[in-house]
Amino acid sequence: MTGFQHIEDNFHADGVKLTDIARDNQTPCYVYAHSLIKENFLRLKNTFDAEMPDQAPLIAYACKANSTLAILSSLAELGSGADIVSGGEMIRAIEAGIQPEKIVFSGVGKTYEEIASAIDNNIAQINIESPAEMDLISRIAADKKVKMRISFRLNPDVDAKTHSKITTGKRDSKFGIAPDVIRELYKKAADDPCLDPLGVSVHIGSQLTTIEPFREAFTLLADFVRTLQEDDGHEIQTLDLGGGIGIIYDDETLFDLTEYVHLIREIIAPLGTRIILEPGRTLLGNAGLLLSRVLYFKQSGDKNFLVVDAGMTDFMRPSLYDAIHPVVPVIQDKGATKTYDIVGPVCESSDVLAKNVVLPVELETPGSLVAFMMAGAYGSVMASLYNARALPAEIMVKDGLAREIRTRVNVRDILARENIPDWSG
Ligand SMILES: *Cc1c(COP(=O)(O)O)cnc(C)c1O
Repeated sequence: MTGFQHIEDNFHADGVKLTDIARDNQTPCYVYAHSLIKENFLRLKNTFDAEMPDQAPLIAYACKANSTLAILSSLAELGSGADIVSGGEMIRAIEAGIQPEKIVFSGVGKTYEEIASAIDNNIAQINIESPAEMDLISRIAADKKVKMRISFRLNPDVDAKTHSKITTGKRDSKFGIAPDVIRELYKKAADDPCLDPLGVSVHIGSQLTTIEPFREAFTLLADFVRTLQEDDGHEIQTLDLGGGIGIIYDDETLFDLTEYVHLIREIIAPLGTRIILEPGRTLLGNAGLLLSRVLYFKQSGDKNFLVVDAGMTDFMRPSLYDAIHPVVPVIQDKGATKTYDIVGPVCESSDVLAKNVVLPVELETPGSLVAFMMAGAYGSVMASLYNARALPAEIMVKDGLAREIRTRVNVRDILARENIPDWSG
């Protein structure tokens, strides 16, 4: 039995009881099902292999969705590359065994050190986001007497029709470069002995549930690439199509993966370039849950609250993005139900993990276990130490074995890095 499911009344992760995981580890903790990571990666890969066998893309997993070493290593084993947004993610990706020639580097604020390290590691390409960044890369490459591969992140001025905090392709967003500016930069880069311009990249946002914004962005990209090829005489080798494929958290309707692949086959493949994809959420989202215990039941006004041991510091998506995550009782109970808000211990009124969910009253018993589902992407990576809380442990389950992949970081670990200065001179 793989994935997350109840067997009899007990919720399992890849064949292991969540009650056993909660017994052996401190809650809250993240739990991942290896089978789902594998299934998600292979579904994407196999769809491309079937539909575009001659032009299979490089799948460069967007590490920012979840960069825990064992997660990256699982993806590396499946052949994944990495899309990184910091030097820290570069270290993680390489440490996990992802080959540098499969790593692309995105982000608007790369530092001197990060660029130098990307060049030293000889990664596939740096996706540049401004003229100033290109100048810096050129200078660093010149100092090192090498030629660095770059790609230009296009700002297509497309509305991704997603949450405002995860839309990145509008003209006034900080991401990407306007087409006319890229044309000038491309020419300059082509004449620069230290730069090797490979192509264009685009990423318009995350959690896209309709295909139209992709169609709009890819069409604009293809037209722009023809301008670069035909009017400006550049050879375009690589197109990086970014990430953004949505997942179903609640009651969203989502386009079909084959629709996405067909779009690429129809609009991008004819340009004859190598294709790179940067999926994050779609590979990890459903593969992780946050396991938490009920501390108290509390009634206040007309509200029923379940106060749990997980909070916004462990899992920020509900408070940051108004995200809705399904809540599953670990022990199924067919008795009476009530409507609850589930809240954490953090001293912020935005520390609400779920609103108006109907759950068995049995959960009011302190110590009851609940799972916040679809928490594999943008979950543990956003955890913070606010309120002197711990960073939760992470557990991976594979073939019926549960293993800790990151130990809990608690206040003592942090205190070991703090000191009270001796001011006496
Ligand atoms: C965040 C990000 C991604 C991944 O987005 P998902 O929606 O998780 O697939 C890909 N590329 C870039 C440049 C990003 O910033």
